[in-house]
Amino acid sequence: MADIIHLLPDAVANQIAAGEVIQRPASVVKELLENAVDAGADNIQLIVKDAGRTLIQVVDNGKGMSFNDARLCFERHATSKLSSADDLFHLTTKGFRGEALASIAAIAHVELRTKMAEDSTGTLLLIEGSEVKEHTPTATTDGTSISVKNLFFNVPARRNFLKSDSVEFGHIEEEFNRVVLTHQELAFSLFHNGKLVLQLQPSNFKQRIVNVFGAHFQDKLFPVEQQTDFINISGFIAKPENAKKKKSEQYMFINRRYVRHPLLNYAVETAYSELIPDGYKPAYFINLEVDPATIDINISPTKVDVKLQDERLVFGFLNSTVKKSLGQMSLTPRLDFDYEPGMDMSNMPKDMELKEPVVTHNPDFNPFHSHPASSGGHSSYGGGSYSKPSSSHNTDFDTSGWSDFLQSLKTETVQQEQTEHPTLDLQPAAETEEKAPVDDVKCLSINKKYIVANIAGGLSVIHIAHARERILYEQYLTAMQQKPITVQQSLFPETITLSPAKSEMVKELKPELLKLGYDLESIDGTHFAVNGTPVDEEEDVQQVIDAFLESYQSNMFLHRADKESNMAMSMAKQKCNMFKPMTEMCEIRDFLRQLFDCQLSNVSPGGKKIIHQIGENEMEKWFD
Ligand code: ADP
Ligand code: MG
Repeated sequence: MADIIHLLPDAVANQIAAGEVIQRPASVVKELLENAVDAGADNIQLIVKDAGRTLIQVVDNGKGMSFNDARLCFERHATSKLSSADDLFHLTTKGFRGEALASIAAIAHVELRTKMAEDSTGTLLLIEGSEVKEHTPTATTDGTSISVKNLFFNVPARRNFLKSDSVEFGHIEEEFNRVVLTHQELAFSLFHNGKLVLQLQPSNFKQRIVNVFGAHFQDKLFPVEQQTDFINISGFIAKPENAKKKKSEQYMFINRRYVRHPLLNYAVETAYSELIPDGYKPAYFINLEVDPATIDINISPTKVDVKLQDERLVFGFLNSTVKKSLGQMSLTPRLDFDYEPGMDMSNMPKDMELKEPVVTHNPDFNPFHSHPASSGGHSSYGGGSYSKPSSSHNTDFDTSGWSDFLQSLKTETVQQEQTEHPTLDLQPAAETEEKAPVDDVKCLSINKKYIVANIAGGLSVIHIAHARERILYEQYLTAMQQKPITVQQSLFPETITLSPAKSEMVKELKPELLKLGYDLESIDGTHFAVNGTPVDEEEDVQQVIDAFLESYQSNMFLHRADKESNMAMSMAKQKCNMFKPMTEMCEIRDFLRQLFDCQLSNVSPGGKKIIHQIGENEMEKWFD
């Protein structure tokens, strides 16, 4: 019988490979930009027409190619970046598979002009559907210009599959962003249909982010930084209040390569889970540096999906670094005390030095670590740890064991930090005299809903209910973890009735409810005797418990929080509106003191903003 197996012609093999590497115009953009970066260019232009359907051109001032290399670069597995399998473990370049240009040339009309600085003439090469049409010396500038025209001219299925110009150009911009964000030291420009879309000068990372995404990002970002022997983490995360419901700007780079790694994304997002509402996404721009030998970027043709040797370790470092930054972020509001010029100081001791009290904080303090209530005695709510075991979150990954791992990672540093609790340099209200500086924060309650105070040199508007929710939340966590709320036993217990599902929940949560001050005893399936309530509680227990369970249940279904956080969150939500309006100035100041003693004071546990700050500059603008 005749043999039927034969090798595919190169042009066909390349076209098949192109199916994997080049899915749409944006894929060409990625490959050409990466080649330009690998060629050592410091100025790179991307010129696009009709969202890449008609033209994608990349012009660089890099090292260029010799006459022969200009031809060879279009062969499959032709690369200058890898010579032995061993090199795969020490990669510093973006490309290495040597298949991008061969793939592109198989499905488009390509024009290459290139020249090395040391050569007197350059090279022109025209290639269409893998067929070389021209290969001649030509006069051209140093560097390389590659034009890709009529993409998918011979693959109608792909061409027809392309989306609208705006969608395709969106993908192109995304690829462009990924490259420019990794190389802030290089200049880039992007033109579409003859118009300059973006021009980027060499800058630092933060400026680059702002230049790409707009000036409004300037104040949204907060730095993340962690250097260890094993991993370096740097970059910026967006403040929780800037999280977006739709897709957010999320960029993770490993060794200066954009990567898509669901586990690492999860490490960042879980750090925020308590601070932003469900379904919202935080923006982040994070660079990880690890030993190239511990990472496999060879697992997908587009090299976006990577495999890390020690995922758990990276997860742990990343998660705690982001948490630490979020903690520091919440400590940034600074109480600002202005003295009245005509203030009466007659009853002050003569030798007393007048000092402006400031909120001091240790920048390395990590509020997610557990530590006992501060020794200064001014914090009634400050002590609780509420780091959550990761395994309770809804996830596609096996997270079992992470919480233990994360815990072990933390305990090492907890010891040192216990003594360095951030202190609000204030005295407890009870020990403070009327005219002492602590009570000199200027504040005002408006419509029983807001407090306006002079904080951080500007005006801060504080949402009372959101702030109360935060204070209560931390208080309840402390109650469950360290210091239960005192129960006031009732002589004649009232009875509450719950649905069968809620009754089951109460039975399960009984020990924790007791720590929150509710002593409930099951009478039969759905009736409970209320043997005790939190001391000073005047609310209707039936209503509080019903609403609490409602909220607990929905949080549970949404997989938002572990048991204790969920309970604290649900109880705080019920109680935050049940307080009498504050009328006395000392009450308001005490409330502010409690808020700033919280481990996070600018977002409610449900992710709502607590403080809106208006700086002097902004005020100035009102009157321009
Ligand atoms: P890879 O980047 O994986 O090596 P490519 O097919 O993208 O594979 O490129 C093949 C080779 O062509 C590269 O290894 C490089 O030597 C050369 N090359 C491609 N683009 C450029 C460029 N802009 N400037 C200089 N050399 C280039
Ligand atoms: Mg390449």
